[in-house]
Amino acid sequence: MNIRSQKDAESFRSRVSSVDEDGSRRWVYATQPSGRFYKVRNYLAYFYLAIFFIMPLIHINGNQFLQFNLLEGRFTIFGKIFWPNDFFIFAVAFITGIILVVLFTVVYGRLFCGWACPQTIFMEFVFRKIEWWIEGTPAQQRKLNNAPWNKEKIIKKSVKQILFFAVSFLIANAFLSYIIGSYELMKIIREPVFDHIGLLLGLLVFTTMFYIVFAYVRDIVCTTICPYGRLQGVMYDKDTMQISYDYVRGEPRGKLKNKEADNLGDCIDCRKCVVVCPTGIDIRNGVQMECVGCTACIDACDDVMDQIDLPRGLIRYASENEIQSGQKSKVTTKVKAYSILLSLLVIFFVVLIATRSNYDTYIGRVKGQTFQVAEDGTVSNLFDAKIINKSNQDVPVDFKLIDVEGNIRIIGHAEGIVLKKEQMNKITFFIDRPANTLKGRNSKMKIGIYDKEGELIKSVKINFLGPFK
Ligand code: SF4
Ligand code: SF4
Repeated sequence: MNIRSQKDAESFRSRVSSVDEDGSRRWVYATQPSGRFYKVRNYLAYFYLAIFFIMPLIHINGNQFLQFNLLEGRFTIFGKIFWPNDFFIFAVAFITGIILVVLFTVVYGRLFCGWACPQTIFMEFVFRKIEWWIEGTPAQQRKLNNAPWNKEKIIKKSVKQILFFAVSFLIANAFLSYIIGSYELMKIIREPVFDHIGLLLGLLVFTTMFYIVFAYVRDIVCTTICPYGRLQGVMYDKDTMQISYDYVRGEPRGKLKNKEADNLGDCIDCRKCVVVCPTGIDIRNGVQMECVGCTACIDACDDVMDQIDLPRGLIRYASENEIQSGQKSKVTTKVKAYSILLSLLVIFFVVLIATRSNYDTYIGRVKGQTFQVAEDGTVSNLFDAKIINKSNQDVPVDFKLIDVEGNIRIIGHAEGIVLKKEQMNKITFFIDRPANTLKGRNSKMKIGIYDKEGELIKSVKINFLGPFK
């Protein structure tokens, strides 16, 4: 290896792949991958894109399937509305999410980045494809960039930037529909644009942001900005599954024609794994923070191995221990334990969301009040109920005592109690109970809230005060 290439090979230790020796941006011209992993990732990417654009259109009982209305502090998950008072669920979700990310990364490395991260999906399967389509291969792209501003360059660059901006606008619209809701967005689109100038500006800000990210920032998001990418190094260990170059099998690398004579390893130093990398790194230098686990180098190297009649897998999913020992990695107890824990956390969170009630209820005696005793011996307590109806429908309800003798007298609400949608509803009422049914000064009892079909939607334990016996 000459001094220059040796310096290049070692440069990965001192700077990220997107920065050149003189500190300037090193633009990555990645070759379009092909192979079994790329094929599956393509199908998955189309699936994710379809979900991303279709999901805001899905509504359950009038609620958007997924919506994060930060402006009103109102979130809809699986069609259920969540309010700031569901903070507990968000706190659990947040903690679960962090544990999930850490455990997942310890076991499976950066699998998420390569297979499911929106940045990778949009960059590699939308924007880069547009670029390959308009400007051609990396060699053609370089040539075009270095060419003077002739007619061909102006047309190609303009078409590309217009398409980039149009797709960014589309993404911004979809993104906005996750915030303000797709119905609201459609309404705004149909109405005169100057009636919603604030939202239009917001849309343009999002569009410009996406455009800058996908047209210029690109791989820097993964290599420098994304905190998950920056943190992965501390989460890896020698059993972490990652995209690895089998240096035991591959080294010493060298040209195919010298393989026998120089007793070389299986890597023929063709650099196909390097030119295909979207973050511009050489996986043969070992695990690097810039690797987003996209599998493009696996596909490229497998193709080379097929052509020179050697077994595939010189670059493959493997842990450091697997590469060192040459043994197929066993599913370790740690991996099993982490995977079980991961599954339990996901199940726990789904159950938490699915079983969350649409009503938050507080019932307590009116402050400063104890009890009243009527002439016939009936004891009365005055209660206040505060009920948040988190659904998007008004719900008529009845209050009934559960398993105790007595009577409820609602104050007001002559037309019946209706829990107004998305509001806190206050209801004041008396409970009257015959004195002989009370067990002492403090009687525990339950009050039920029933919908108009007679279904119990909530039961609340309360304390009923009576005279000393
Ligand atoms: S090293 Fe391989 S897996 Fe990692 S980003 Fe580059 S091409 Fe993708
Ligand atoms: S594609 Fe495979 S053979 Fe070619 S340089 Fe990369 S690791 Fe070596």
